[in-house]
Amino acid sequence: MHCPFCRHPDSRVVDSRTSDDGATIRRRRQCPHCSRRFSTSETASLSVLKRSGVSEPFSRAKVISGVRKACQGRPVSDDQLAMLAQRVEESIRSSGLAEIAGDQVGLSILQPLQELDLVAYLRFASVYRGFESLEDFEAAIARLRAEMPQDGDPAAESSV
Ligand SMILES: [Zn+2]
Repeated sequence: MHCPFCRHPDSRVVDSRTSDDGATIRRRRQCPHCSRRFSTSETASLSVLKRSGVSEPFSRAKVISGVRKACQGRPVSDDQLAMLAQRVEESIRSSGLAEIAGDQVGLSILQPLQELDLVAYLRFASVYRGFESLEDFEAAIARLRAEMPQDGDPAAESSV
């Protein structure tokens, strides 16, 4: 890492600390040539390979903007979107891969979004999975129904 002031090709680490979430390490460095100090931050690289063949850094902001569209008009807060993006990043990072396909990001969004809001989930899944007919929606809804926890007493319900 060269010095950003004098371009000296070497620098010395004088301090390093891990961010609160543990995802980033910040280092204070000092240039042995001009003695000035600067900071660097280090994050495990994670990039997304798009269908176009272009690779770009994974971005929680992009996950959020994609999901936000599906959540329009739904009772989903910014905090919940931020939590969802964090879960998506964690599940992707847990694969241990440095580069993943864009489709994999969409797949990792489906599960946490299903837990957050079913309508938003169906909207997102319909775009992501390319639903083309009512049958596609019906199949997805049938699967959601099958996965729903059976709460409430059916006997009590029928007596109403
Ligand atoms: Zn320097």
